[in-house]
Amino acid sequence: MSEDPAVYQVIPGTATVGFDAERVRRDFPILHQQVNGHPLVYLDNAATTQKPESVIQAMVDYYRRDNANVHRGAHALSDRATGAFEGARRKVANFLNAPDARQILWTRGTSEAINLVAASWGRSQLQPGDRILVSAMEHHSNIVPWQMVAAERGATVEAIPVDTTGTLDLQALQGMLDARVRMVAVGHVSNALGTINPVAEIARMAHAAGALVFVDGAQAIAHWPVDVQALDCDFYSFSAHKLFGPTGIGVLYGRRTVLEAMPPYQGGGEMIESVSFAGTTYNQLPYKFEAGTPDIAGAVGLGAAIDYVNSLDREGAARHEEALLVYAQKKAQAVSGLTLVGTAHHKTGVMSFNLDGVHPADLGTLLDQQGVAVRTGNHCAQPIMDQYRIPGTVRASFSFYNTFDDVDRLFAALEKARQFLQ
Ligand code: PMP
Repeated sequence: MSEDPAVYQVIPGTATVGFDAERVRRDFPILHQQVNGHPLVYLDNAATTQKPESVIQAMVDYYRRDNANVHRGAHALSDRATGAFEGARRKVANFLNAPDARQILWTRGTSEAINLVAASWGRSQLQPGDRILVSAMEHHSNIVPWQMVAAERGATVEAIPVDTTGTLDLQALQGMLDARVRMVAVGHVSNALGTINPVAEIARMAHAAGALVFVDGAQAIAHWPVDVQALDCDFYSFSAHKLFGPTGIGVLYGRRTVLEAMPPYQGGGEMIESVSFAGTTYNQLPYKFEAGTPDIAGAVGLGAAIDYVNSLDREGAARHEEALLVYAQKKAQAVSGLTLVGTAHHKTGVMSFNLDGVHPADLGTLLDQQGVAVRTGNHCAQPIMDQYRIPGTVRASFSFYNTFDDVDRLFAALEKARQFLQ
């Protein structure tokens, strides 16, 4: 994406041409409140996004009208609940352009999706000496599950280098790929730096070496349409709560042949075909991986979130987010003593930074006192913080419902915080 604001026709302080963020904001009741005596400026969207009224209402309606267990009951409510639940799965499949809804598995979120693949595929496939490659900027969720299964199977987890701007070194990746590499696991977008990784290219490179590709889409899914067939990845995961849906539910997409060859992850009801003490047989996809009563209301909420996102001008929304980031980074460059962390050319949604001599946590508290919500710390990405020799950053992360005024308020609050600290 371009870093030239002119390309996006930004008129700072007003609006991005063609996208009405002020109108969209009205769909999100939580945004209209005072925090510590100031109107809320919510810039923690990479941690979790806010929910539009339609998502909240869909979940309330489900519990008020349709609640029942799915797939089992011989009654109207169970039929309705099952219809809503499986309808949501089809919505996710269409949203990701997955070939078949049976390739969409419900999980608790991105973390559980990665754990599922690490445990099921990893335990059944990895041999001593096998290698798993992850990028050096991964979230802990896309490192630790691989480390756990690697330790069990005698495999290794190695980091693909990232340069000082936060860009993945594809040449280094090419040099690391060999026949022992079984999995390349990368984030589509870094939650700590905002870097967009070229996952289609990474998939081409990894497949040529015979490895599978897992894309952690937690930070990409809210920003632009994802097409898993175009990316040609083997797995793609995201969490509903980062897509304007509820917490507690997420998605694992998998390539059909790979999922079919994988053993179940957890045992219980729903995931079996028949159970006896002589031997148990397992259900088909996707149920083989869905033991127990699922988060039905969560699936309904995610379905409503997808409907909401599909109702927006997504290109306009992406252009607006891009314009906000460009505007914020331009302002940041004019603040003395401010260092941006993560300056890759291809970025979205995230501005991480530090102020000289100020601990990020102190800054976060002072911003909160002025109604500005940001995240501080290592953002569950300690290895990349260690590489930059910093304890963490202050992270402002944007969504389409943010405005240029929000960015101005952030910088005004920063200035006040700095005066307070000096
Ligand atoms: N990967 C990335 C890139 C993330 O940003 C996050 C959430 N911060 C996760 C994985 C984990 O997501 P969840 O906590 O919803 O499982």
